[in-house]
Amino acid sequence: MTEMVTNRLSGIAASPGIAIGKAFRLRQEQYVPGADKAADVQRELTLFREAVERAKQELEQIRSMTEARMGAAKAEIFEAHLMLLEDPDLIDAIIEKIENEGDNAQYALHEVSTVFIEALSAMDNELLRERAADVRDVSGRIMSHLRGIPHASVSAIHEPCVLVAEDLTPSDTAQLNLDYVLGFVTEIGSRTSHSAIMARSLEVPAIVGAGEAAALIETGTPIIMDAVGGTVIVNPTDEELAAYQASKAAYDERRRELRKLLDQPTVSQDGHHVELAANIGSVEDLQKVLENGAEGIGLLRTEFLYMGRSALPSEDEQFQVYKHVLERMKNKPVVIRTLDIGGDKELPYMKLPAESNPFLGLRAVRLCLSRQDLFRTQLRALLRASSFGNLKIMFPMIAVREELLEAKRLLQEEKEKLIGEGTAVSDIIEIGIMIEIPAAALAADHLAKEVDFFSIGTNDLIQYTMAADRMNENVAYLYQPCHPSVLRLIRMVIQAAEKEGKWVGMCGEMAGDETAVPILLGMGLHEFSMSAGSILSTRALIKRLNRREWADYTEQIMAMSSHESILQFVHQKTKE
Ligand code: PEP
Ligand code: MG
Repeated sequence: MTEMVTNRLSGIAASPGIAIGKAFRLRQEQYVPGADKAADVQRELTLFREAVERAKQELEQIRSMTEARMGAAKAEIFEAHLMLLEDPDLIDAIIEKIENEGDNAQYALHEVSTVFIEALSAMDNELLRERAADVRDVSGRIMSHLRGIPHASVSAIHEPCVLVAEDLTPSDTAQLNLDYVLGFVTEIGSRTSHSAIMARSLEVPAIVGAGEAAALIETGTPIIMDAVGGTVIVNPTDEELAAYQASKAAYDERRRELRKLLDQPTVSQDGHHVELAANIGSVEDLQKVLENGAEGIGLLRTEFLYMGRSALPSEDEQFQVYKHVLERMKNKPVVIRTLDIGGDKELPYMKLPAESNPFLGLRAVRLCLSRQDLFRTQLRALLRASSFGNLKIMFPMIAVREELLEAKRLLQEEKEKLIGEGTAVSDIIEIGIMIEIPAAALAADHLAKEVDFFSIGTNDLIQYTMAADRMNENVAYLYQPCHPSVLRLIRMVIQAAEKEGKWVGMCGEMAGDETAVPILLGMGLHEFSMSAGSILSTRALIKRLNRREWADYTEQIMAMSSHESILQFVHQKTKE
């Protein structure tokens, strides 16, 4: 383990804010209990039963809290854990081992659960392999009670803390209790990994890619996380504490100032209006959208409906969610993206074959076109919901025109069927695509003839253009939003759409990047869609910019040869 030379660690500021508190380290340590025989078998049995009972109460509590905060689907995982606590194959086997072999409770639990975990992990079936993680989680929870120490799980957090972990899965992030988690620091991740995106939509400060944070910072250690600058300070001195308390107060004051822009339109200094919309990844994000003055939803990622459960969502379940979002947005535009599964987002229950390059594989619309049953179900749910608000449907990961035409054909077929069945369907639904593959950007002139709008998905467009995995911190230096190659593609897309009289938005993280915004405004982007927490600061920025001036700079910027020179140019001009 590396020694910490100073009390500072640096990482990527993935979601802004400053948090000061005690660390809670989420670290699955490998605990192996001793094999000593029980001095008193009855006592070990009682200890074990009590630990199971405590685990049960804890899980009940977590389950109902999750259901109340995030809905029944997200709480299902805990139902499965509760069922394991009553599973005779697991629990009775442990009891028998204590009774018949005189093992101590910790050892019996360790031995039986290890056999289970190993057997399940070796299965071909993805769903059964997933069960191994559940058994690990549940047996770890019982073990914590036997040892009288807190269980290492995000859901076990019940007091204010800064969470420190090697990594957080999207479902870990979804389960964070924001009444207690002041922010999180992870060793792995990048600005565009999904847990970082979720952190921004939850408006919780986050630093990712922070070296060996989880190895070095223990639970209870006082820390400061500066997720504006990307620094973690461990065991701060009194001076550091005072300085950061002041920065936090200034940061909070600026947020209060920004709130004054809540109901104002987004207009540049010279009177040019653009639309600022929000990206959302769950129904719970809606509150933040409304609180941050978004003019619409530019991207609703529908994956949340499909993840963290054991079967596909039904048409009716989806319909209810889409209708709810449209109604809450009260006729403001809502762009709902059809399922974008694949890449780093998996659905174990679909048992899709493993791919060696999932980001280049059967993902998003490719999967939907090959699994028409699930695609048609989603399209029907969307069409049924369309009469309850201002719905726009968007297809992700379009590479070629034929995919778009096929998706549109299926949509049209389902629309006709629904109308034939007497169901109301709006006749003004706009259809758009995400431009996130260089091939689509280069052929945007052809694609523009077939759509009502484009939304540029720079998270993927950058990774595919630069051949740099968006989640791999080792190639993060290549992940350059303002690289001339990326900007050329973006400009081509905007020009191609304008020629056909179609509007262009951007829903990749670049749309809320303060260095990119002036360039995009100058290029004529119509809609900027970002995490709700970035809306007000972007509105404040656009109000200070002169759109005509930035349009004039476009040629100059396009002639520059590097990311660095473009960043410098923007910084210099925005300071003037
Ligand atoms: C994108 O690729 O820019 C995008 C918005 O989609 P996602 O981040 O969900 O891949
Ligand atoms: Mg994408």
